[in-house]
Amino acid sequence: MIGADPCTGWLKEAVRLDDRGFVLTGEDCGADAPTPYNVFQTSLAGVFAVGDVRSGSVKRVASAVGEGSVVVQAVHARLASLRRLSRVATSVGARLPSVQRAPPDAHQIRS
Ligand SMILES: Cc1cc2nc3c(=O)[nH]c(=O)nc-3n(C[C@H](O)[C@H](O)[C@H](O)COP(=O)(O)OP(=O)(O)OC[C@H]3O[C@@H](n4cnc5c(N)ncnc54)[C@H](O)[C@@H]3O)c2cc1C
Repeated sequence: MIGADPCTGWLKEAVRLDDRGFVLTGEDCGADAPTPYNVFQTSLAGVFAVGDVRSGSVKRVASAVGEGSVVVQAVHARLASLRRLSRVATSVGARLPSVQRAPPDAHQIRS
């Protein structure tokens, strides 16, 4: 951010922005709000926004630092959940070695 203008043009295809270019988070994402809910969560799961660039934030140093420290917990939780999913996928893959990549043919579907 320079002065009061957020430099978020490069982000607009990835996350929802407000009409001034600030990044929307939490319930401000509306129907795009990912779950589990987090006040600093953007419309893209696993991507968080804090500080001045966040829409509706208090534009002060102390609040930017505070938001950054609070969101660390959500980042750790997100990484832990991805690690869990990865372990489950690996373990399921190991137990089902014959999982087919291609869809079954019509004969298999009928039987
Ligand atoms: C003139 C002025 C006076 C202020 N006075 C006060 C005051 O007295 N007290 C107070 O509490 N607050 C004050 N503020 C507000 C305070 O500066 C901000 O609230 C605070 O700096 C926000 O921190 P931030 O980390 O969210 O954003 P920033 O400090 O803006 O940090 C964002 C960083 O990201 C970098 N960046 C941006 N885009 C990219 C990119 N694409 N790739 C890599 N890096 C990028 C920027 O260069 C910048 O270094 C003032 C602000 C201004 C402009």
